[in-house]
Amino acid sequence: MPITVLYNCTEVRDFLADYLERKLARRQQWAFRLHLWLCPACRRYLAKYRSSLELWRGLDTDAPPAELVELTLKFLRTRVEEGEWLPETEH
Ligand SMILES: [Zn+2]
Repeated sequence: MPITVLYNCTEVRDFLADYLERKLARRQQWAFRLHLWLCPACRRYLAKYRSSLELWRGLDTDAPPAELVELTLKFLRTRVEEGEWLPETEH
């Protein structure tokens, strides 16, 4: 059995939305969870991501408007690109 491929932090963050919407294949979920288990930085990132989504969900029982989600994702990605949430283990 080959060892499950470990995602790097950037890949995990790209998959975050899919993971939360349970769109990932079982194999990807395992790799994703394994990464989260090993990587405190991504766990913190996930927690922040989740709480920002749930903040909106609290305002309305429906899912947040697509454009709002898109804006947040862009915002979060910008933060990542600026290095604000980069884990210590990278580089
Ligand atoms: Zn990570």
